[in-house]
Amino acid sequence: MEQASSSDMFRQRQREVVAALRAAIPGQCVLFQEEDTRPYECDGLAAYRQLPMVVTLPENEEQVIAVLNVCRELQVQIVPRGAGTGLSGGAMPIADGVVLSTAKLNRVVRLDPYARTAIVQPGVRNLAISDVAAQHGLYYAPDPSSQIACTIGGNVAENSGGVHCLKYGLTVHNVLRVRMITIDGDVVELGNGALDAPGLDLLSVFIGSEGMLGVVTEVTVKLVPKPQAARVIMASFDDVVKGGNAVANVIAAGIIPAGLEMMDKTSSRMVEPFVKAGYDIDAEAILLCESDGTTDEVEEEIQRMTAVLQQSGATAIAVSQTEAERLKFWSGRKNAFPAAGRISPDYYCMDGTIPRKNLAQVLISIAEMERKYGLRCANVFHAGDGNLHPLILFDANQPGEFHRAEQFGADILELCVAVGGTITGEHGVGIEKINSMCVQFSDTEREAFFAVKRAFDTPFLLNPDKAIPSLHRCAEYGRMHVKRGALPFPELERF
Ligand SMILES: Cc1cc2nc3c(=O)[nH]c(=O)nc-3n(C[C@H](O)[C@H](O)[C@H](O)COP(=O)(O)OP(=O)(O)OC[C@H]3O[C@@H](n4cnc5c(N)ncnc54)[C@H](O)[C@@H]3O)c2cc1C
Repeated sequence: MEQASSSDMFRQRQREVVAALRAAIPGQCVLFQEEDTRPYECDGLAAYRQLPMVVTLPENEEQVIAVLNVCRELQVQIVPRGAGTGLSGGAMPIADGVVLSTAKLNRVVRLDPYARTAIVQPGVRNLAISDVAAQHGLYYAPDPSSQIACTIGGNVAENSGGVHCLKYGLTVHNVLRVRMITIDGDVVELGNGALDAPGLDLLSVFIGSEGMLGVVTEVTVKLVPKPQAARVIMASFDDVVKGGNAVANVIAAGIIPAGLEMMDKTSSRMVEPFVKAGYDIDAEAILLCESDGTTDEVEEEIQRMTAVLQQSGATAIAVSQTEAERLKFWSGRKNAFPAAGRISPDYYCMDGTIPRKNLAQVLISIAEMERKYGLRCANVFHAGDGNLHPLILFDANQPGEFHRAEQFGADILELCVAVGGTITGEHGVGIEKINSMCVQFSDTEREAFFAVKRAFDTPFLLNPDKAIPSLHRCAEYGRMHVKRGALPFPELERF
């Protein structure tokens, strides 16, 4: 009886919200039937799902404002959404909330080859910007592996990175201006077309704010010239410690490669049958080190990197001879996540950052955790940034395996913090790492984050309960994870 009445209340509320939205934006831009809203129930963190009450697909900025006005007046929570490729649950809907999709805001507004900038709507795909810029010999540098699908709005909200971010910077270093709508329906522009903007740097506060401060409606990005040449070294190591140390040695030699990525043996064996890139599947670790620039610069840097890798104990080295071969070497790295689906029914992609010098020891600790939790883990990551992506392999149909995978992931993040790193590198916090925020930040720091959120979104309607944990939540988490004053990973004290 009680069940029926709560579902009646939901239907009534849904009718009220749908009617108000349909009065504000075209009817076809408001979805509420289950078969229409089902595709929005999760993002790339598919283990967590929630059907939204309503999905809106505004076609222009005025309609975005109209949706926000309706939601504010009716006190409905809003989850902005790009392509839904996020891996931390940032775009996961709220049961009685509205999903605001930017799928129809997908225009490149203007491209200025002289200023080397592009103004794009939030639903433009990352790779589409480079495709359009290519006719001018330019491209957009941050290149998440999901770049074929993910949107620039999502990239801004997550401060996304990619293989080339070691040299060219993350989203925050490549965005000059963001136009966004606040929960009050006001249009606000942060940053401008120049490298510096007067006043407090709210652009940096906004980038990476995971849809909690405002809805992006336009982004000005920097474009960079396509390098004349690019080549990649593929180096094998018979020991992950040697591979990890080689990463630190390359940077210590004063080289900033265009990309410096690592795959362990589980990863190369996972991707090789999928892409047939010629990976050394007997190596304990493979490094991919890219150089770009003029032909002479590339030649010289490849020689210097080869020397460092050999001194670091590389057992085999191959250098791409053609562009096709370069792309082949990268294909396994770029396809690692889909390849995981070939060897495991489910995988859980973690994202944490550590100081480069601790790479080798952290990989050893992760191997110990594999034994502790009885689950395999493939490590494929942005080694040059110290940005780990352990892929924990599990089978959700086996009782308890998902829970073990979650605990394994939480342990990895605590390990990252213990060695002086952070619980996120580029995938954001969302719902996935919300408990780990309690490990990384003090009550005072989290309260400061809430103060920023309140300053932008006083009614707390934009993507609430994501990214910043409440004091209560952290108290609960602390109660369940008593450490008795001891370091969670005492073996790391020696680092
Ligand atoms: C196979 C695969 C590989 C990946 N590789 C990488 C990688 O190399 N590097 C990396 O950084 N990430 C990677 N990701 C994660 C993901 O692609 C990025 O986080 C991406 O930026 C998400 O973009 P999206 O458009 O899919 O956003 P969504 O997943 O839809 O949303 C992500 C967050 O952004 C918010 N948001 C979206 N649009 C707006 C807007 N207009 N205004 C305000 N907030 C908004 C949402 O509320 C949510 O919090 C990968 C994901 C997959 C599935």
